[in-house]
Amino acid sequence: MTSGRGRAVVIGAGLGGLAVAIRLLAAGMEVQVVEAQPTPGGRAGRISERGHTFDTGPSLLTLPRLLEELFELGGAGLAGELTLRRLEPFYRIHWRGERRSLDFSGDREVLAGQIAKFSQEDAHRLPAFLEASRRIYEEGILAAGGRPFLHRRDLAPLVPSMLRLGAVRSVEHFVHRFFREPHVRQAFAFHPLFIGGDPFRVPAVYAALAYLQIDEGVWYVEGGMHELVLALSRVVERRGEIRLGEGVRRIQTEGGRVRGVVTSGGEFLPAEVVVSNADVVATQRELLGRRELVPSRLSMSCYLLHLGLETRYPQLAHHTLLVGEDYPAFVRDVTRRGRLGQSPSLYLHSPTASDPQMAPPGGDSLTVLLPVPNLSSRQVEWARDGAGVRESVLVALESPTGLGLEGLRERIRLERAWTPLDFQQALGAVEGNAFGPEPVLLQSASFRQPNRDRRIEGLYYVGAGTHPGAGIPGVLMGAAITARLVVDG
Ligand SMILES: Cc1cc2nc3c(=O)[nH]c(=O)nc-3n(C[C@H](O)[C@H](O)[C@H](O)COP(=O)(O)OP(=O)(O)OC[C@H]3O[C@@H](n4cnc5c(N)ncnc54)[C@H](O)[C@@H]3O)c2cc1C
Repeated sequence: MTSGRGRAVVIGAGLGGLAVAIRLLAAGMEVQVVEAQPTPGGRAGRISERGHTFDTGPSLLTLPRLLEELFELGGAGLAGELTLRRLEPFYRIHWRGERRSLDFSGDREVLAGQIAKFSQEDAHRLPAFLEASRRIYEEGILAAGGRPFLHRRDLAPLVPSMLRLGAVRSVEHFVHRFFREPHVRQAFAFHPLFIGGDPFRVPAVYAALAYLQIDEGVWYVEGGMHELVLALSRVVERRGEIRLGEGVRRIQTEGGRVRGVVTSGGEFLPAEVVVSNADVVATQRELLGRRELVPSRLSMSCYLLHLGLETRYPQLAHHTLLVGEDYPAFVRDVTRRGRLGQSPSLYLHSPTASDPQMAPPGGDSLTVLLPVPNLSSRQVEWARDGAGVRESVLVALESPTGLGLEGLRERIRLERAWTPLDFQQALGAVEGNAFGPEPVLLQSASFRQPNRDRRIEGLYYVGAGTHPGAGIPGVLMGAAITARLVVDG
């Protein structure tokens, strides 16, 4: 595809699929997005019931300038489409059985003060941590996340700087170089969990996620993250088409190049370019009938509990984290041992802290996210274990040694749960993974599914499964790479 014109089919209307569609439309292509679900957004879905609105996936936005660029390309202004609010603090971190909490602030002085509640020495080391993270951010995330890694050799030029910056050892190791106090270390090392990474294993390039937030802010989309999906969909539909409710069953190829796709209803949609936003493993296995898979180790999943409450708990920040008793063991259990963690570490979204319209007057629409093993674990059976998981979550929320949300159970008016089975069934996520392939070193950059297929001409990938990876910024940066590859040929 050298002219930038022609017909493209995008499989899936996740954030990556919508973003690449906007870019291909801007390049003059005819674009059809084919989504299996009746609504767009994929993981960035929404539940709206009885006045309660819940984001079913992402709730925390970083790097909004990527969206500004995207909306501009689509001929729309971000400000005209969405209202973004910078959050302060970004999140409040509680530890089970610990009286002190830490407000993770975007203001460096305030943040140092919060660290000083735990360790004066660590507070003094904040500037050094930020400076080391800045260099990793600029060389590792902005530079590497902005270009494709189509061949193994593409990684070589990056290796010396990543070694020099200490970015290939684990995030936990990197953070430990600066902070000694255990609570502070956890507060600066948990960020890879946002994209399905184990902080004790993923390379320290992901330590720069904390820097990225401090540098560029953490934002809330008024009305919830699904508003972003709706706004992107509107931009796509100005010149392109989104077909909902019928998925793709097969990618049709002939003579080493794509010819189009076949829908689950049996319709053939011809295309010179096919971009898959579907699960990368499912794309290989089910849509292409390939047996060898790149890559193979899938991320953890999530148990999500959406609670429509008749009250609000003012002690909750917009985003709250509760770290359980033996956090390293919890992470190991979930990511390596295929077990439910003993003392849950969880994340809580309380949108009414910034946006009262997300719940009926005086109420809240809480979402609790508990990291859990994906379905490759033989030790968890959701039909059997789901009720116990729900109970452990409610105990952690209510208990005075947890978040102390007194009387929570009596105030629940609406309840919806999502388990790894839902990720698998609703989104076609292999093993019910929540974040695509795990972002370990050997599944990153050149080792991840490249944005362009290595063998079939005209076939491309976008979304959490391809380079650079999961999370809204990763998926948007990946869409830019993929579109550039399509247009430049
Ligand atoms: C619970 C949770 C919380 C998160 N929180 C954050 C956060 O706060 N901030 C952040 O930046 N990131 C967060 N993330 C990560 C972020 O949401 C994802 O990385 C991102 O949304 C993935 O986008 P994607 O383009 O890969 O598409 P997906 O959301 O994976 O969508 C893929 C789409 O393809 C469709 N599809 C699949 N197979 C087919 C087929 N055969 N035919 C047609 N359609 C098909 C699916 O139905 C789906 O709509 C979170 C993720 C989860 C799960």
